[in-house]
Amino acid sequence: MVDRVSEKLLASLVSHGFDVCYKPGALREDVLNIVENYDVLIFRGRLRIDKEIIDRGVNLKVLARYGIGLDNVDIEYAIRKGIAVVNAPSASVISVAELTIALMLIVYRKLYDAIDDVKHGKWLKGKYIGRELYGKKLGIIGFGKIGSRVAYYAKSFGMNIMAYDIRDVSSEISRVGGIQVDLDKLLSEADVVSIHVPLTPLTWHMINDKTLSLMQNESILINTSRGEVIDTNALLNHIDRLGGVALDVLEQEPPRDENLWKLIKHPKVVVTPHIGAETVEAMDRIAEEIVKNILEAVKWL
Ligand code: NAD
Repeated sequence: MVDRVSEKLLASLVSHGFDVCYKPGALREDVLNIVENYDVLIFRGRLRIDKEIIDRGVNLKVLARYGIGLDNVDIEYAIRKGIAVVNAPSASVISVAELTIALMLIVYRKLYDAIDDVKHGKWLKGKYIGRELYGKKLGIIGFGKIGSRVAYYAKSFGMNIMAYDIRDVSSEISRVGGIQVDLDKLLSEADVVSIHVPLTPLTWHMINDKTLSLMQNESILINTSRGEVIDTNALLNHIDRLGGVALDVLEQEPPRDENLWKLIKHPKVVVTPHIGAETVEAMDRIAEEIVKNILEAVKWL
């Protein structure tokens, strides 16, 4: 294991007879040097699990992503080499969906500034006139496990829901009283746009200068999917006319690029450090799901 994981996962693997080596935060060089010693490699989204790592892992049988996103893994190459790739696709859905709603509320109610001001001794009533979610149009890009869960929560806040997806999700979305629309309609009509697509060649910079220019003034943008779905520089060009932006993911993590820092420090922007799945419950569920999937994969080898 080359990334931080829950105690529960460590204990569960040991109880299933695995000889566990735990090196959270291992550098890529270290992973390249040791990977040949292992049958299973468990990792998060930090390192690129590419051809080089896969080739060095001469004994690898399973690549296990502790979480959902597999965009850092060369899946095709791994499978060609007979290595199973598993993840925990359902475990963090609730946590990410709850964070998404929290980010909407933080932006709409200016909670970040309100709390920070009080902490700094400023009691400024009247400065934080916010907005309600009730009655607003929510546009969900990617109506999969997380997007549909967000819709379910948003519905109980009285939001009107529309979704854009490459699949036909019209019957699923009708269950929350929503409709499936194309991307242009969603962006031009939504008060709140929330992104829940995986990172693929089609979704890379899906939110760019052209698509951002369709968004209404004062509408808000939430991204808890993958940073690369948004073109950071384009977002910087549009930020002043938007109502606010909340991001749990960035194009570069941790951020080093000057423009990313310009975005992070912008008063209309709230950024969390990729904490979507970071709850006790999600971590426990990831542990259960990942062990089950590793055992299943090993069974077929
Ligand atoms: P999912 O596969 O269940 O749903 C994704 C949806 O996006 C699907 O309905 C799919 O049809 C749709 N989609 C794919 N390509 C599309 C395209 N080009 N245009 C429109 N729709 C498209 O995935 P999920 O479990 O809901 O996860 C969604 C995202 O959340 C992923 O990017 C995942 O990496 C991210 N995520 C983030 C965190 C975090 O910590 N912030 C944690 C878990 C997952």
